[in-house]
Amino acid sequence: MFVQVAFPISSYQTFTYKVPETFQKSIQVGIRVKTSFGKRVVVGIVVGISKMNSFKGKTKSISDVVDSSPILSKHLWNVILWMSQYYLTPLGQVAKSVLPASLSLKYKPPIKWMVEICDSFTEENLLSIPVRAKAQATIAEILYHSKKRTLITTLNEYVSNPLDICRKLKSKGFVRMSEIVSPPDVTGFTFDPVQKKIKFNKEQAETIDKISKAISNNIYQPFLLHGVTGSGKTEIYIEAARNAIQSGKTVIILLPEISLTPQIAGRFRSVFGEEVALWHSKLTPAQRAWTWKEICSDTFKVVIGARSAIFSPLKKVGLIVIDEEQESSFKQEAPAPRYHARDVALVRGRYEKSAVVLASATPSLESYYNQILGKLDLLHLSKRFGGAKYPQTHIVDMIKDQEESGKYGLILSGLLQDKIEDRLGKGEQVILLQNRRGYSPVMRCGDCGEVVSCRHCNVSLTFHRNKKKLICHYCGYSPDGISESCNSCHSPNMKFFGTGTQRVESILEETFPKAKIKRLDLDTTKSGAKITAILQSFEKGEIDILIGTQMIAKGLDFSNATLVGIINADVGLHLPDFRAGERIFQLIYQASGRAGRRSKLGEVVIQTYNSENPVIKKAAKLDLKAYYNIIMSERKELNYPPFSWIAKVVFTGQNQQSVENSSLKMMQMLKGRFKGLDVLGPAPCYFEKLRGNYRTQIVFKISRELDPNGKKLHSFLEKNFFETQMKSNHIKMSVNVNPLSLL
Ligand SMILES: [Zn+2]
Ligand SMILES: [Zn+2]
Repeated sequence: MFVQVAFPISSYQTFTYKVPETFQKSIQVGIRVKTSFGKRVVVGIVVGISKMNSFKGKTKSISDVVDSSPILSKHLWNVILWMSQYYLTPLGQVAKSVLPASLSLKYKPPIKWMVEICDSFTEENLLSIPVRAKAQATIAEILYHSKKRTLITTLNEYVSNPLDICRKLKSKGFVRMSEIVSPPDVTGFTFDPVQKKIKFNKEQAETIDKISKAISNNIYQPFLLHGVTGSGKTEIYIEAARNAIQSGKTVIILLPEISLTPQIAGRFRSVFGEEVALWHSKLTPAQRAWTWKEICSDTFKVVIGARSAIFSPLKKVGLIVIDEEQESSFKQEAPAPRYHARDVALVRGRYEKSAVVLASATPSLESYYNQILGKLDLLHLSKRFGGAKYPQTHIVDMIKDQEESGKYGLILSGLLQDKIEDRLGKGEQVILLQNRRGYSPVMRCGDCGEVVSCRHCNVSLTFHRNKKKLICHYCGYSPDGISESCNSCHSPNMKFFGTGTQRVESILEETFPKAKIKRLDLDTTKSGAKITAILQSFEKGEIDILIGTQMIAKGLDFSNATLVGIINADVGLHLPDFRAGERIFQLIYQASGRAGRRSKLGEVVIQTYNSENPVIKKAAKLDLKAYYNIIMSERKELNYPPFSWIAKVVFTGQNQQSVENSSLKMMQMLKGRFKGLDVLGPAPCYFEKLRGNYRTQIVFKISRELDPNGKKLHSFLEKNFFETQMKSNHIKMSVNVNPLSLL
């Protein structure tokens, strides 16, 4: 018997090993084995078994079997193979990003010590503890009175080293100690379970019915669930999930960023209880390993998580939901594999024969177009749940506003200020969006215009006032102190430009001194639990104004938030990227959806210096159809997705000259090899230098007319590119298939 084994290393092959007699019974696809690889002993995964008796060439034997049951399913392995091929990434590297890191070690679940008082313990024993051993007496007394088995770490409230003290008490025969395996605490990421009684309207009932039919028929069926904000999508996922579980299947729910959507996880918990696992970037390696193993042994029926939850080793997946499918966080930009969870979900759904639901209030152009082409079945929810009305929107032309008021550089327009005042008076809540963190994104010389930039990246440093520091948002670099004169002309006339969330916060504090104001962005909240805490306190009404970056524009649902203000709708509008308009629209539309989700009417104030911009105008009217028409014709004209296929190859390295040379060489080699292919570049990337590395890119583009399925472009790439480190000149070449942006 022979097996094919894949290793978590940067190589594109699997290797064949012989299976000694003793292991033949326990060998299965998906378990890990130990083998020698070169001179080292390495753990690899069995990906194939052949019953042959002989093998051409030399083979070694596996030396041990690590798992008793598979840590990967057959379908998941097929997904990994597909990803390696499609995203042009070594197989080992894909496997490494799919499997939790600590699975490659011998995993031990975290152990916690418990203690309880012995039955024989008496009042006299207590008195027998000498006076100088005060800590022992304290603990013994607590345990004696509680009579409960107690987690030892919780006793540090009373003594500083409870484990030592308990050991001493144990040696005297006063207490019993025991171990428990502690599962990761994930409750911090969810809101308290919300019990709801749901009565579905006709539209919703039909939607559930269609999804459930696909599940029970055991067929792959992809849907586009287009539901306006507040149309009750979460309740539909829950109902469909319930049907899947009833027919013995499992469910994957992908959310753009799980810590920002604790409400959805909370709803699932309330319905499915302990059968729900959470999977997201904030889990520790140990928690990941534990969760993975438990999923493998069928403890969970539902996995909710961010993009990598698409790799959960659930068996018999009947339903995959991608909530807010248009979100860019579903695409992994770095490191390789640069996959899009939406595409992976569709591939996995095909293998598993499951229903795949791409859901959004503002579907991506790709999904919108695929639905027109008939590749996705449309499910449409046109009504807001419970009859909530759409918010009323106002565009404020900031240029005009400033001319009329004579106050230049204003951050809050008169209108927005009045509306905030009004809400505060009524005891209603306000959400303000400013899609930039820090205080000021730019420090510039008032004389020559020189911008203070990061020395490792070609981007401006952002001023953070509370830390009194300039910080690079790409690499974290921060110079000592803030230079008082210009590097270029030595003028002392240095000024801060632009507005970040911190600055908005301090202006609000001055303008509304009595209001309770909280800021939610990457600076205030590093941990998921902290984000949940802020959101929860907003829900309870303990915060009047919540200000934040796009983090707060997503699926939140607050009944008393009736005003949404977008401080500057133009952030990112002028970026040289074909998706700039789409992103602005999504942001405005999503943020507007946060206002007035219940009986109270919501209002949205959008401040802009580009009030005639068609995308901003359509977004303000919440006019999705007109927006699609504008953007689709723009994309068609410029031959961008969804009307074409694109790929981006980026060259990076520390030596600018050799980066430029390598990309040029590659370009000359490929010239004229493929008719109909647009080749743009090589050109410096938008971020020419990041983290000390120079970057150039070549973009390949081919229209769908010439290449309906993208297969021609893909086979061209396959022949010429692969995610690799060129050994000779220290240049890294990375391949991005279907990049989300060309920046
Ligand atoms: Zn200067
Ligand atoms: Zn930097």
